[in-house]
Amino acid sequence: MKNVKSKRLFAEAKKVIPGGVNSPVRAFRAVGLEPLFVSKARGSKVYDADGGIYIDYVSSWGPMILGHANRHVRKAMSRALSRGWSYGAATELEVRLAQKISKAIPSMELVRMVSSGTEAAMSALRVARGFTGRDKIIKFEGCYHGHADSFLVKAGSGAITFGVPDSAGVPQPLAAITLVAPYNDLEAVSTLFHQNPSQIACVIVEPVAGNMGVVLPRQGFLKGLEEICHNNSALLIFDEVITGFRLIYGGGQKIFDVTPDLTCLGKVIGGGMPVGAYGGRREVMEKIAPLGPIYQAGTLSGNPLAMTCGLATLELLQQKGVYKKLELMTKGLCQGLEDLVSQKGVQVRINQIGSMFTLFFTGEEVFDYGSAKKSDTNQYAKYFQRMLQAGVWLPPSQFEACFISLAHSRKDVENTLKAAVDALDALF
Ligand SMILES: *Cc1c(COP(=O)(O)O)cnc(C)c1O
Repeated sequence: MKNVKSKRLFAEAKKVIPGGVNSPVRAFRAVGLEPLFVSKARGSKVYDADGGIYIDYVSSWGPMILGHANRHVRKAMSRALSRGWSYGAATELEVRLAQKISKAIPSMELVRMVSSGTEAAMSALRVARGFTGRDKIIKFEGCYHGHADSFLVKAGSGAITFGVPDSAGVPQPLAAITLVAPYNDLEAVSTLFHQNPSQIACVIVEPVAGNMGVVLPRQGFLKGLEEICHNNSALLIFDEVITGFRLIYGGGQKIFDVTPDLTCLGKVIGGGMPVGAYGGRREVMEKIAPLGPIYQAGTLSGNPLAMTCGLATLELLQQKGVYKKLELMTKGLCQGLEDLVSQKGVQVRINQIGSMFTLFFTGEEVFDYGSAKKSDTNQYAKYFQRMLQAGVWLPPSQFEACFISLAHSRKDVENTLKAAVDALDALF
């Protein structure tokens, strides 16, 4: 029998962990399977508990841009271990990482470390509210900013209305002050500002959306947000938890030439350890305790082992040609997939930028949540299952990004394409 150990572990897990997993998407429900348990990862590969080997496109949901268990990072972390791994006091490491981040993303004049992307976005939101003295916020449908209450909100019925809770336990009055607009829709944002004069603290956006699958900003969208926020004395928050140091050494804001007031980071800056960060304009960030009245703290914030992992990861990413290499590899794979599907006449759309991409099972352009949702998720589930059988580990949901790491080789790409030929053959 296959996956014996994974099955056994899952049965045990369900007895002590809700749904057997510590983050819902890991449960593989959207693709109709039981989760595989991972025993180790090296380079571009993950190994399951039963000895299966897979080319990894999940990348721990983004952080593992160097590939798994990178030697340089491992060495740095081993050295750090012997010095102890948490002091609850200031260290040089956190200064060095903050400097690196601020240098690469100049809009982040002051940087505060936290332990997850959720915490970064939640804190940035509090800062925006504290700084502006306003309560309402605008987010975009399909963008994810972690699981803080204010963000677990979906659009109410009717295109532009108050938000409604997207999770039980989110208070309705809180959801009502989160306004939701379609991604890439500047008009909707203008309307919301018009309807809520001097009440909106901030607009928060993923400069490239990665949590409804990869969706790119249309020409002028991000610039337009910058302008609208500026005209309304609201802050613009870029949630670059995925895009930061993934698209480029620095933030996506450099690519799109937009200067947000605040930026959230996570994933790559921790290199796979629990790290988040938020930062921005000095004047805004100086409102945070101990300098100002906005409270935010963390027992493990700036954890030395996590900082070491982040620093070692960014060091390697500073090498010349790294992002070019990632992009070329990704473009090669996406081109290969395009060729395959066009031969078969299959209706798919591939959105790609840098080393992130999504293959959507829809024939129409995907530019927001509504158009992403037109994808045939049954087809995706079948595709996922076939690919997994063939040794390719894709994200277990249509609405996620695939990531390529520096450890992915041409051979990996070839093998992935071979698997895709068979998977698509079986499907169509
Ligand atoms: C992953 C993610 C988060 C949340 O980060 P966690 O570390 O999972 O809390 C926030 N924003 C974006 C854009 C993300 O992709």
